[in-house]
Amino acid sequence: MLILDAVTAGHVAVQTAQRLSETRKKRDTGLLSSKEIKEWAGKCTSCEACLRTCPVDIHISDFMKDAKEGNFASFVDAKELCVGCMRCDYACETGIPITHVMDSAARNYTENYVGNVRMGRGPITDVEIRNVGRPLVFGEIPGIVVFAGCSNVPNSEREIAVMAEEFLKRNFIVVTTGCAAMSLGSYKDEEGKTLYDKYPGEFDAGGLTNLGSCVSNAHALGAAIKVAHIFAKRPLRGNFEEVADYIHNRVGVVAVVWGTYSQKAHAICTGLARWGIPVLYGPSGMGYTRLLVGRKDKPETFKGFDARSGDEVILDMCPDELITIAENMEEAIVKIARNVMRPNDGAKGRVIKISHYMDIHKKYFGTVPDDLHLYIRNEKDIPITMKDEVMAILEKTDWVEKAIPDPTMVERLVRK
Ligand code: SF4
Ligand code: SF4
Repeated sequence: MLILDAVTAGHVAVQTAQRLSETRKKRDTGLLSSKEIKEWAGKCTSCEACLRTCPVDIHISDFMKDAKEGNFASFVDAKELCVGCMRCDYACETGIPITHVMDSAARNYTENYVGNVRMGRGPITDVEIRNVGRPLVFGEIPGIVVFAGCSNVPNSEREIAVMAEEFLKRNFIVVTTGCAAMSLGSYKDEEGKTLYDKYPGEFDAGGLTNLGSCVSNAHALGAAIKVAHIFAKRPLRGNFEEVADYIHNRVGVVAVVWGTYSQKAHAICTGLARWGIPVLYGPSGMGYTRLLVGRKDKPETFKGFDARSGDEVILDMCPDELITIAENMEEAIVKIARNVMRPNDGAKGRVIKISHYMDIHKKYFGTVPDDLHLYIRNEKDIPITMKDEVMAILEKTDWVEKAIPDPTMVERLVRK
């Protein structure tokens, strides 16, 4: 039945959820008995067809040998690595329902796998954008980090949570969608808390907002577009170029796609990049084989205009990547901190961003970034507590002070 009335649809959805909740509480988990697990495990021929197809190289036949002897404990390790793609089920010519055997053998793990996900809330409202737009455009809220993607890599739950918390603690706005949002609801700290338990849900500095399913990635982009529309009065209709120019030069958003699965995911990411939002893939993004990385060795490729004077200028090299890959979580965190910088950052905002970038680089790589001179426009951009250290670094480079333009890459936006 198609319900077109929104209020009726809301009533039906709530009542359906309430009724199903009782059924779910009573449901039989359907897990196999120990005898059934041993029987299935006894059929394994160690052909390794499942291993060859498993994206995370789980040695299923070893676990089957243990299970045949009645030892199921090792399946918990397999469950922690398994990304649930079910390729092994299809690969096994003996017909062993591998994932079902795994779930059943790790019964305690499976039955206690309960998360706590904040409700997906849909689009960011104009009122919320008005509250954060100004500090965002001038860099005082250091940025928005969007965690999306299929989370189908080992340890992705923990890694997404560690990355998100690094930026929540630093007062970034963190938003999430789809499987990444569920991962954040599954990973718990030593006290059994998820990030949803620890951080508020507001779209504001230090808030963690779940936008909804992966289709809601559009709402993350929508928030950036609304900043351009509300603050710069850029018309929305037929005005892609000017809005993308605004986002690219002023709105410090980075999308992190930690686990890629489909061509749809790549289509979403290239869509974000077209709007001037850098996208960072985890290691599995390697399969897409196409990146958009700036040539920092060729400053002339960052050419644009000062909208005040009309002069052609070399814009700040930030973001310096629009589609890129991080080989591990540490590299991703550093890249996020760098790619939230924007040519339009005010001095106060740039100071905040530089101090996070330096701090994060030292924390995860143990060194000061070697490209710092590219992001410091004049002495006002240097965090006061780091001044001596930064000046010593700058003196070893060809750094010279530069003016801060009103940045644009669209010549018709020059006001002169
Ligand atoms: S379901 Fe798990 S064990 Fe099976 S192929 Fe996928 S990741 Fe590997
Ligand atoms: S594909 Fe089936 S039979 Fe072959 S090793 Fe895996 S579980 Fe055993």
